[in-house]
Amino acid sequence: MTSPTWQNWGRNQTASPREVARPADAAAVADLVGRAAADGRKVRAVGSGHSFTAAAVASDIQLRLDRLDRVMSADVSTGLVTVGAGMPLHRLNAELDAIGLSMTNLGDIDAQTISGAVSTGTHGTGEKLGGIATQIRGLQLVLGNGSIAEIDRTTDTDLFNAARVGVGAFGVITAITLQCEPRFELTAVEEPMPIERVIDEFDALADGNEHFEFYWFPHTDVALTKRNNRPAEGAATHRLPRWREWLDDEVLSNGLFELIQRYEHRRPASIPRLNGLSATTLSARSFTDVSHRVFVSPRRVRFREMEYAVPRSEIVNVFREVRSWIQRSSTTISFPIEVRVAAADDIWLSTASGRDSGYLAVHQWHRVDYEPYFRAVEAIAGQVVGRPHWGKLHWLDAETLRDRYPSFADAMRVRDRVDPHRVFSNAYTRQIFGD
Ligand SMILES: Cc1cc2nc3c(=O)[nH]c(=O)nc-3n(C[C@H](O)[C@H](O)[C@H](O)COP(=O)(O)OP(=O)(O)OC[C@H]3O[C@@H](n4cnc5c(N)ncnc54)[C@H](O)[C@@H]3O)c2cc1C
Repeated sequence: MTSPTWQNWGRNQTASPREVARPADAAAVADLVGRAAADGRKVRAVGSGHSFTAAAVASDIQLRLDRLDRVMSADVSTGLVTVGAGMPLHRLNAELDAIGLSMTNLGDIDAQTISGAVSTGTHGTGEKLGGIATQIRGLQLVLGNGSIAEIDRTTDTDLFNAARVGVGAFGVITAITLQCEPRFELTAVEEPMPIERVIDEFDALADGNEHFEFYWFPHTDVALTKRNNRPAEGAATHRLPRWREWLDDEVLSNGLFELIQRYEHRRPASIPRLNGLSATTLSARSFTDVSHRVFVSPRRVRFREMEYAVPRSEIVNVFREVRSWIQRSSTTISFPIEVRVAAADDIWLSTASGRDSGYLAVHQWHRVDYEPYFRAVEAIAGQVVGRPHWGKLHWLDAETLRDRYPSFADAMRVRDRVDPHRVFSNAYTRQIFGD
């Protein structure tokens, strides 16, 4: 057997594609897809490989879009920016910053490509805000017959509704037009709080802040809360000194956290005590910075993750159920549980499609068996019609998923139209969409 030539960030997915293609423009992508379709071959676009699911696994032709990585046009007066599909978020943020623009919301990291991020429904937190795909105003796509489509909300509305979060199954995105906004800063207030207080006051915290999230350390009574808001006009603000940024983000959140994971792996009985230590070493801090630097943090400790979106009104109950499962079970969990919120959107396969949502994300260190824990969380989320993040681990298939999305059948009809021969399918799309 030959060794795999590609693996994802979580190191739980590998691939040995028969061919790797790095086209330089949309016309070359169209030519490649057209030839693949004629020859009955499969094409799978890959971003930065940050999905934990097999979403990006290509066994035949792996399409890397890293040469489509430029800002193609930017109108600072309207905020409309068109970028190549392979643009990594960290470069996009830097280039927007330089011309006085910002993304409205972001997730925890910036290593993904823009098209990889939107394709799985990547999101941050904010009760009035949607995931990154809600910022899309136009898409350039190569369809299953090798034609190039330029679409927006009014030109092929159905395809636009399906392809914004399309898990690579509705075409190869070659360019994305995003609605950005004038560059803005955020003031971050991060502080540990008793978990009982966080859950009692959850609605007030989530509704009273532009971006609210919390991380609860299992086996402890403490959560780290994060509140990010735009500073009031004229408010006194301060940046985090470089040494403090380094101490918090590199030493405590990554270096020390990795050492703790290794130690706990050998001595699981130490997890509750060390979780308490982790929760308290991340002490309170407040600072102001340009928005993308506040949203994003380095994540160097390798883990595996599952995340479920549930109706916003259920998120506290789901959290309580998961906490109570942890208390009852003998499983020890060394990674915090992350809870976030998002507003309902109109994207057919978005986890927030048609409903205000709460998100609960669970993690395990990469050398730990995550399955019993993640399956328990999946069962709990399932009781309230939970929808799994397309890029994070889950065991659901098309049979179950079709009842969890109001427009699932509409999306599948669009798929039959734009990729009737399933040029863009892989084992994962067969699992979640069925064929
Ligand atoms: C450390 C870490 C932190 C994370 N934090 C968050 C978070 O805060 N919020 C959140 O929601 N998610 C988060 N994720 C999940 C991550 O954002 C998603 O899995 C995202 O899809 C990864 O983007 P990528 O560029 O690596 O794409 P890949 O994982 O390589 O691909 C994802 C999907 O996009 C498709 N795709 C890629 N390019 C194209 C294209 N040009 N056209 C069509 N389809 C394409 C692929 O085929 C695949 O189906 C995190 C993941 C990790 C590892």
